Amino acid sequence: MMRYLDANATEPLRPEARDAMFAAMSVTGNPSSVHAAGRAVRRIMEDARESLAARFGCQPADLVFTSGGTEADALAIHALGQGRRLIVGATEHDAIRAAAAGADVLPVDGNGVAGLEALAAMLVSGPPALVCLMLANNETGTIQPVAEAAALCRTHGALLHVDAVQAAGRMDVSLTALGASSMAISSHKIGGPTGVGALLLAPEHRTLSPLIPGGGQERGRRGGTPPVAAIAGFAAAASVPRDATRLVGLRDRAEQAALAQGAVVVGGHGPRLTNTTCLALPGARADTQVIALDLAGIAVSAGSACSSGKVAASHVLAAMGLGTLAGQAIRVSLPWNATEADIDAFAAAYARMADRLRPPLVSHAA
Ligand code: PLP
Repeated sequence: MMRYLDANATEPLRPEARDAMFAAMSVTGNPSSVHAAGRAVRRIMEDARESLAARFGCQPADLVFTSGGTEADALAIHALGQGRRLIVGATEHDAIRAAAAGADVLPVDGNGVAGLEALAAMLVSGPPALVCLMLANNETGTIQPVAEAAALCRTHGALLHVDAVQAAGRMDVSLTALGASSMAISSHKIGGPTGVGALLLAPEHRTLSPLIPGGGQERGRRGGTPPVAAIAGFAAAASVPRDATRLVGLRDRAEQAALAQGAVVVGGHGPRLTNTTCLALPGARADTQVIALDLAGIAVSAGSACSSGKVAASHVLAAMGLGTLAGQAIRVSLPWNATEADIDAFAAAYARMADRLRPPLVSHAA
């Protein structure tokens, strides 16, 4: 039996999302069509838009459906970054880093938290900027001071785009409350289907130049026939209340079990998502740990980014100054349906693995 503890890669589909998708799939029509069939499908899509906009703090007209978080990030940088200098947090996801190639990098401290003084210094000099700062990190769960950064940006005539892909569904997230210019979210990280996400915009950025022009859908901001069933599943998943207290209890138990085996919690002293822990086991390679746990039926991932199956050195852990521990960290991220039994299985497998992989103690006895 597989114990799935890799929610930050993708969350299991919530039954509410599956039901909403089945219901929407049985209605035929293109939401752009003017006839009754088109209008029926359009109603499903607009209900989902209204529900997501209310949940994440924007006007329905300011929410643009995309194919996921990557496209939402790329659209924000394409549209809001025009003519602006780009500044990105050192621990941003590759969805941001690849779209903002050549950007100036905002450093983070040992807990992965971006420095606001450094940001202020960067904003004082140079042309008006677009700053990209994620709300919660995918590898460590570290939560960034986004509202404070947004206030700084406003003072200096800069815009702020927030990647809230990992935060949405796991903590309170509101574009309006954060005071940012735009925000990316993704359905499959909150228990909805893959293939859909959204870019939320502050009203002053409502009109933007599309990345995919096409047939004028999404008020000319994103061409292509929208995946209405997936959108319905996205909204249904987002409207399920979260149980952060239960998850944090389970996460802390997993963490204690690893600490007892000599692990180090990376970013453990900063603000973090309740479902995520990044555990470094000194002397044991991250990829070996992932394989050992996989063989024991536990799905986790390397702290290093492994977006295309390869385990590359993690820029997140390197930016936090982890040194060799950066190659020895795994990410354990609890899905919404994690159980006590999952944590018991993890604790037992981790202890067995640590026994095998821990470097032998060198005796200094004469
Ligand atoms: N941003 C962050 C922080 C992520 O963790 C991810 C996915 O792992 C993305 C963006 C990309 O989202 P999607 O998989 O929906 O394209």
